[in-house]
Amino acid sequence: MSRSEVPSGGPEADEYDVIVIGAGPVGENVADRAHASGLSALVVENELVGGECSYWACMPSKALLRPVAALSDARRVAGAAQAVDGGLDAVAVLERRDGFTSNWQDKGQVAWLESTGLELLRGRARLDGPRRIAVETHDGTVRTLTARHAVAVCTGSRAALPGIPGIEEARPWTSREATSAKEVPGRLAVVGGGVVGVEMATAWQALGSEVTLLVRGDRLLPRMEPFAGELIAEGLTAAGVTVRTGVSVEELSRPGPDGPVTLSLSGGGRLECDEVLFATGRAPRTDDFGLETVGCEPGSWLSVDDTLRVTGVHGGWLYAVGDVNGRALLTHQGKYQARVAGAAIVARAAGVPLLETDRWGAHSATADHDAVPQVVFCDPEATSVGLTVDEAERRGLRVRAVDVELGEVAGASLYADGYRGRARMVVDLDREVVAGVTFVGPGVGELLHSATVAVAGEVPLERLWHAVPSYPTMSEVWLRLLEEYRG
Ligand SMILES: Cc1cc2nc3c(=O)[nH]c(=O)nc-3n(C[C@H](O)[C@H](O)[C@H](O)COP(=O)(O)OP(=O)(O)OC[C@H]3O[C@@H](n4cnc5c(N)ncnc54)[C@H](O)[C@@H]3O)c2cc1C
Repeated sequence: MSRSEVPSGGPEADEYDVIVIGAGPVGENVADRAHASGLSALVVENELVGGECSYWACMPSKALLRPVAALSDARRVAGAAQAVDGGLDAVAVLERRDGFTSNWQDKGQVAWLESTGLELLRGRARLDGPRRIAVETHDGTVRTLTARHAVAVCTGSRAALPGIPGIEEARPWTSREATSAKEVPGRLAVVGGGVVGVEMATAWQALGSEVTLLVRGDRLLPRMEPFAGELIAEGLTAAGVTVRTGVSVEELSRPGPDGPVTLSLSGGGRLECDEVLFATGRAPRTDDFGLETVGCEPGSWLSVDDTLRVTGVHGGWLYAVGDVNGRALLTHQGKYQARVAGAAIVARAAGVPLLETDRWGAHSATADHDAVPQVVFCDPEATSVGLTVDEAERRGLRVRAVDVELGEVAGASLYADGYRGRARMVVDLDREVVAGVTFVGPGVGELLHSATVAVAGEVPLERLWHAVPSYPTMSEVWLRLLEEYRG
């Protein structure tokens, strides 16, 4: 649809076609899509344009982790290993990280926003009844705005801290401090064995901390195939991290302002550390947000349909896109949802039935259900897309798992001496398509998209057989997996 086809309501003050709350990667994309199609759009942001991803999540965490992988890669190749002398230069790594966050300034992203013609309002937004938003601006005034067609809530998520005695006084790190700290703590306890826990344990151990990773369950990365957690625990242990499973923190105490923190653990043990990071999950940024004014539960994840429209809100004007809907807390998935929501908002504003303009299924975020890719940037890397065996079976699919040791693939053995890693392909036996793939090993992150294409494309295995991988690359793992499946 061209810009001119979309009816825009004109420039009356404080009335916009679309109001987007939150200028993270997701909000930016929803607003851009709507505006590029001719709708007037306002973006409201309370902190930094660019959101969590740019300043306290993806970018700084990966900036901390990339040097770890680069060093490990060199150490795993004879000839290069001899040239590596010593560990990471923590000061240089932190400086490079600061560059990726633009020193926590959003000038560059504001300039991009302005270059697209989008309007930015700085302040904290709350819903104020159907189609209405009240924004407490940074100069203390309150502006009430109305949306003609849609309000898109793109407020993201924040770290969720458990209600353990002493937690407030202990001033724990969350993902924000773990990605922005300026100094390397001597001893760091990391609580939680999910993605943030294992990535930050990897980074800070390599930067010089003595890291203890405390995990309540019996394995790391519990949402992936079990072998992923096993190989990652092996990698962390080899790097010097103390990994303890089946243990939870029951109490914390930090008597002095800068003194150590003591953790009381289940089973009676204690652990003293200089900082403690809680990586124990995320909560939606929907508390104190006026959700009750539109009939939704305050503080809840916003449940949406596949066009990202909040379910149960009369009039269908409220959208929730990105982390805040809880479907897949990943930047790339949120931006995919933003493309879908943007297209749906524009089509509905123009009164065009979605199905009529639904080229490529562009108004429906179906990939959220079956084909979410994720890379865990620890050492080795762990990646997955689609369903694990367990998830597939819970959905009632008849599946078979095919495993290949990556070290047996020529490309992997060239990548690293003594390469250790594994691949699993989960095959939907009734349709003979790939339902899920997991790769664990050094350098597998860039391999994942081939699996995403196979899963999202529902490519029949008999066609995949004719996708010939180059020799000698790690991609030949596909050939090994298919040979193993054919028998
Ligand atoms: C440590 C860590 C590492 C991560 N690494 C990766 C990774 O490598 N790859 C990946 O894909 N994902 C990663 N993620 C997840 C990724 O950060 C999120 O999925 C992504 O930031 C979600 O984008 P969003 O726009 O929905 O929300 P956010 O990025 O959280 O942005 C929301 C914005 O809304 C604003 N806001 C909130 N409430 C209001 C309000 N009431 N009024 C006005 N503004 C408001 C906030 O200030 C913020 O700027 C990581 C997460 C963490 C914690």
